[in-house]
Amino acid sequence: MKKNANEVSRRDFLKSGAIAAGAIAVIGAGTFVLDHEAAKSMPREGFLRPPGAIEEEDFLYGCIKCGLCVQICPVHAIKLAGAHEGLGYGTPYIDPREQACDFSCDALQCVETCPTSVLDFKQFKETGLRAVEAAAAEPGVDMSQVNPFEVQKVAMKNAVKIGKAVVNKHTCLAHAGKPFKGVSRGTDFSGILRSPNDVNSSATPLRDREYDQDICHLCVTECPIGEKAIVQVRNRNGRKLIPRVLDGCTGCGVCEMVCPTEHASIVIEPF
Ligand code: SF4
Ligand code: SF4
Ligand code: SF4
Repeated sequence: MKKNANEVSRRDFLKSGAIAAGAIAVIGAGTFVLDHEAAKSMPREGFLRPPGAIEEEDFLYGCIKCGLCVQICPVHAIKLAGAHEGLGYGTPYIDPREQACDFSCDALQCVETCPTSVLDFKQFKETGLRAVEAAAAEPGVDMSQVNPFEVQKVAMKNAVKIGKAVVNKHTCLAHAGKPFKGVSRGTDFSGILRSPNDVNSSATPLRDREYDQDICHLCVTECPIGEKAIVQVRNRNGRKLIPRVLDGCTGCGVCEMVCPTEHASIVIEPF
């Protein structure tokens, strides 16, 4: 069957990209060994892309690896992939165990700054506009007192879907009926986050927060989306309170960052 021009040019592009990545890997063989060690510790299969990322194949095709999304992120959640990643080399990703995308930014700046629209507002625009319309339709609401930009921003952030959190019940403290007291990731940990109860504050170091929970539920406490995303529920026999992830989870990764077990007991699976 005859292929259209787009299909042919895309295949050619992917092929040339793979050859280029291979050449880079050979030239950079010295660093390859070190990067390969780092890659082994990555906790998930596939990249967790920044908010608004379009479908993976098109993302690889369209991202120009400019790094603007990396520079603009106020919590430095976005990194660029190393040479060992082949075709994905130089593309942006998030490792939430090190630093989650906690929505500290004012307006999904990474999406706003992307010059190629491989991080794309289209996914959120309708939701944002509908939220403003819904706010205006509320009985007794004086729209001169409402900041439509703020309404739109909150709605768009809630509509982000990077991935979804998955709990490992074999290592989760709550599933074992255990408490957590102390600093969750140790006093050397550099990750920062904003309080879910004060969305106007700036992000502060996780190491400055001390917890004292009879049954661990740090993931629930710190989730910036709240009860639409994760709740504490009783298990089947009613004896334990455990975290349950709901459809409102955006995949931001704050739960993965704060989880105090040696290897995170809640990890984000990319979409
Ligand atoms: S800003 Fe867009 S094009 Fe630039 S590295 Fe980030 S995703 Fe790629
Ligand atoms: S923070 Fe980690 S250990 Fe604690 S309840 Fe959540 S998943 Fe389990
Ligand atoms: S459960 Fe909450 S903190 Fe965890 S990824 Fe989902 S939205 Fe983020």
